[in-house]
Amino acid sequence: MIDQDRPRRLSVFGSTGSIGVSTLDVIEQLDGRERFEVMALTGNGNLELLAEQARRFGAKLAVTADESQYMALKDLLAGTGTDAAAGVSGLMEAADLEADWVMAAIVGTAGLSPTLRAAARGADIALANKECLVTGGALFVDAVRRGGGRLIPVDSEHSAIFQCLDNDQRHALERVVLTASGGPFRTYTRAQMENVTLQTARTHPNWSMGLKISVGSASMFNKALEMIEAKYLFDLEADQIEVIVHPQSIVHSMVGYADGSVIAQLGVPDMRTAIGYALTYPKRCALNVERLDFAKLARLDFETPDESRFPAIRLARTALQRGGAQGAILNAAEETAFGAFVEERIRFLDMAEVVEAVMDAMTEIAAPTTIDDVFAIDREARLKAADVIAQRKP
Ligand code: NDP
Repeated sequence: MIDQDRPRRLSVFGSTGSIGVSTLDVIEQLDGRERFEVMALTGNGNLELLAEQARRFGAKLAVTADESQYMALKDLLAGTGTDAAAGVSGLMEAADLEADWVMAAIVGTAGLSPTLRAAARGADIALANKECLVTGGALFVDAVRRGGGRLIPVDSEHSAIFQCLDNDQRHALERVVLTASGGPFRTYTRAQMENVTLQTARTHPNWSMGLKISVGSASMFNKALEMIEAKYLFDLEADQIEVIVHPQSIVHSMVGYADGSVIAQLGVPDMRTAIGYALTYPKRCALNVERLDFAKLARLDFETPDESRFPAIRLARTALQRGGAQGAILNAAEETAFGAFVEERIRFLDMAEVVEAVMDAMTEIAAPTTIDDVFAIDREARLKAADVIAQRKP
């Protein structure tokens, strides 16, 4: 039960990243109208920014995930009143601090343990880190439910669905339609996609985001993760989840009902709207973001995704149909393939081939029932992916 007289206590996991910086901007914008107290901020390599944020927000604790940077962070925080911590134990310390609301914006599987821990303690979880749901699935949803906090999506598509979904009409819910910008290669032929570089893959046409999600938007693996995320967030069947390419990124997603109605949420592509909604839900707050100008917009386009150029969508559907641990396997294989692409050990289109090979080799693995299961599956899939990559001809 939150004491209404004290400020709302917030922690931001991944505060130095794209979502983390936008979250702190929203907190700063609302400060004065709402009363907040910042408990823990976490980052990894960007110590200067982490220390600057900790000073600016008077955080109780700042954590770098990189254990070797503990002393450097401690030095940067000397005399500020903010404690320093590092490594996985530091992230767990951050999760244990009594924040009422936690922004989960660490990138990748590294976000799972601290987010689960904060959820188990009953914090409201604003979820940007989709990997929590893709790898943990029902385990993660159950942990939040048992903890008693709320799970509020931050991904713009899932925030849109959350805003459009009428829980009193669940019986009439037919489908959700996730929109995808199509990324920088939307109009490329498959031949043109053969030799694209990291530099072009990371250049998103509409959104400014971290490296992993930008490349994931170019390959549509980000959309694949979002399809799996949607299943667990909204308790959907595989055939209720559709994807449509919408290059303007103005319609953030839609919900279709049995009477033929489709409810959509629209806005300029700015994550601060979804972050603000997750922070003040069920209230809406005034934010200094650009407003939609329909006359300037003039048109909204929609296209069916081409699964021969973007096999990630087909692979997500396969993972959803197969169930078991296929979501966690897809995620681990994709993170490994992404690493190999960044290091120029494989080409852009090879990423999907690696993921498919790993998924096909691990169809018998059951859904995880403990966090140790999640990590064991994750490790096995990464090893398998590394193997597949090593065996490829250069
Ligand atoms: P960024 O790469 O910009 O930021 C990632 C954050 O995680 C940084 O604070 C980084 O620290 C920290 N980090 C990196 N590696 C580790 C690690 N091993 N352990 C702990 N912390 C680590 O990512 P984004 O902000 O773009 O994305 C974060 C999450 O939100 C992802 O899951 C993404 O899919 C999701 N998301 C992002 C959106 C966006 O618009 N960016 C939209 C919707 C969802 P440091 O920078 O100090 O190294």
